[in-house]
Amino acid sequence: MKPYVGTADLHSHSTASDGALKPEELVSRAAARGLTHLALTDHDNASGGAQAQKAAGALGVTLIPGAEISTTWNNAEIHIVGLFLDLSTPALQQFFKGQLERRQERAEEIGRRLERQGFEHAYERTKAMAREGAVITRGNYARYIASTGRAQSTDDAFNTYLKKGRSAYVSTLWPDIAEACAVIARAGGVSVLAHPRRYDFTNSKLRRLITYFVSCGGRAMEVASCQQRPCDREFLAKLSVEYALKASLGSDLHQPSPWRDLGLSLLLPPECSAVWTCPEAETYFKNFKEDPA
Ligand code: AMP
Ligand code: MN
Ligand code: MN
Ligand code: MN
Repeated sequence: MKPYVGTADLHSHSTASDGALKPEELVSRAAARGLTHLALTDHDNASGGAQAQKAAGALGVTLIPGAEISTTWNNAEIHIVGLFLDLSTPALQQFFKGQLERRQERAEEIGRRLERQGFEHAYERTKAMAREGAVITRGNYARYIASTGRAQSTDDAFNTYLKKGRSAYVSTLWPDIAEACAVIARAGGVSVLAHPRRYDFTNSKLRRLITYFVSCGGRAMEVASCQQRPCDREFLAKLSVEYALKASLGSDLHQPSPWRDLGLSLLLPPECSAVWTCPEAETYFKNFKEDPA
């Protein structure tokens, strides 16, 4: 069954990366909030997929397998969400392995930098706060730093230590957008440009990014998210139409709050063509069985 606007959330994180909820908790929350479709899109891995799928089958939620891939474009970190992925694709698994190695090296280096500033065993402690085997992101470090009391919140931890230019920032050369789009396509999925307004680009730079993304085979962009100014949503809707991209919608949930939650405020302007009308999505829904096991 295909979703309708208002019943789907196509961007969320679990404890398989920097989300606070376990995959099955995320799915139960989606069901409790009246969603029929949820995409699990952890950073650079999909290891929560099996658990989420099991819970989704039991609760009548359609789980859309996904991941949020880190890429580098013009020295900026750009996130590409892959949706409707066949997670058993060897090329995708190989790609995740490479991302994991990059993340591991980076996480250890962030830890060393924090140690120099008096955060003892920063890496080990951050890892201990995460689920076993979870991908360690700056989001995990932010939570650890806040827990030590040396930052008032995760936002504060980011601004003081983790963002570009700060003492524990480690720059990483992620794969090119073309590589991310290619592996998503190999896995039968759809590439979505994540949160286009969060890169702090001028409109002309954002247009250059979208032009490049389209040239790489990118198919959709996120138009609706929580905590978004109406003018931003309208502008992104306009861009999606102009560049013939499908429109996606997602909370990017990490930790529920009154202003960010699954399905919260996710409406697409009427001129948009929803991402689930892509042929890849049609194929996915056609083959979808309530319980694939
Ligand atoms: P990484 O992929 O390791 O660079 O980590 C990026 C993640 O850090 C994002 O997905 C967010 O979850 C989190 N993040 C980014 N910016 C902030 C911020 N200003 N405050 C709190 N968390 C943030
Ligand atoms: Mn995150
Ligand atoms: Mn992101
Ligand atoms: Mn995200």
